Amino acid sequence: MSRVSDPHLGRTVVAADEIQERVAALGKEITHDYGDDPPLLVGVLKGAFVFMSDLARAIDLPVEFDFMAVSSYGAATRTSGVVRILMDLDVELTGRHVLIVEDIVDSGLTLAYLRRNLAARGPASLEVCTLLLKEGLQRDDPDLRYVGFRIPPAFVVGYGLDVVERYRNLPYVAEYTGHLPE
Ligand code: 5GP
Repeated sequence: MSRVSDPHLGRTVVAADEIQERVAALGKEITHDYGDDPPLLVGVLKGAFVFMSDLARAIDLPVEFDFMAVSSYGAATRTSGVVRILMDLDVELTGRHVLIVEDIVDSGLTLAYLRRNLAARGPASLEVCTLLLKEGLQRDDPDLRYVGFRIPPAFVVGYGLDVVERYRNLPYVAEYTGHLPE
């Protein structure tokens, strides 16, 4: 089924050109902020892979990359607060300037867990860049250094975000109006 005729895709929440413009601005900001200390970008799989790839190319510094895979939902769409590391980093973080790259922060539980986990590995600094922040739902202040867009609390897909592994390759972010797995 093409995107245009998919009845489960609702309104566009962030258009492709808005994303590209914002990612370019975030890249400039990060380039400016880190200057002589290029960060290690830690992408949180799978959702952040699209954002990470565009963001990295907008940063004019010799950044390095690593990835982690975590699972907070399983196939379900509400976070349980129980986060599992499915794939860990390859590199040591001691003394590194680490920038976590996230697709979306909802309750903030996944990020809180990641931050605690990575902070314990002795990085020189630890900051977060998230493409999307759902407004009003965080239980703790997530203390995010870089935020692409603040969005209303609907379930969204696209630009890396999925429903049961679909829609990750949409170049924009849209509301998903179909049935959500429990
Ligand atoms: P949190 O722990 O902040 O509640 O949830 C974070 C994770 O839940 C994200 O990394 C993402 O994988 C998933 N998530 C949260 N909200 C959405 C959403 O609206 N759409 C999709 N596809 N995933 C979401």
